[in-house]
Parts: sequence; C-alpha cells; structure tokens
Amino acid sequence: MPALYPNTLCPACGGLHTLTCQDPDRHPHGVEYRYTCPTTGSGVELRPAAAPERVILAPASAVPLTWAAD
Ligand SMILES: [Zn+2]
Repeated sequence: MPALYPNTLCPACGGLHTLTCQDPDRHPHGVEYRYTCPTTGSGVELRPAAAPERVILAPASAVPLTWAAD
C-alpha cells in the first residue's frame, strides 16, 4: 500500500506538498527519501518525522518520493 505524507513543509519552496511513496514496504526502515519540488524543480531530501498514512491509492497530485537510504 502506498504511504502518504500529507501537507509536508517543503524546504525548497516553503510551501506544503503531499508526498507519496509507492512501495514503502520494500524499505521498511527507510529514513531518507528524495523528491523533486514541483514548484522550484530542485531536489529535496526528506527524513519523515512521523509515520505516514497508508492509503489504497495516492492522489494523482501527490509528489512521488524515491528512497535514498535506510
Ligand atoms: Zn516545494
């Protein structure tokens, strides 16, 4: 099930993004993700502070996360 991090403060643009990880169970201890800020186009490192929401389907507008490191 995808993981969803709703309304996450983006250090690149200062706005809020809804971020999603399509396959969080592949890296259950993943602590570092990266995404591309849709506003500035720059890469951002994310270390989630809280557990994500689990959803059946992430919203189409959600920004995809890529796993960077455990
Ligand atoms: Zn941003």
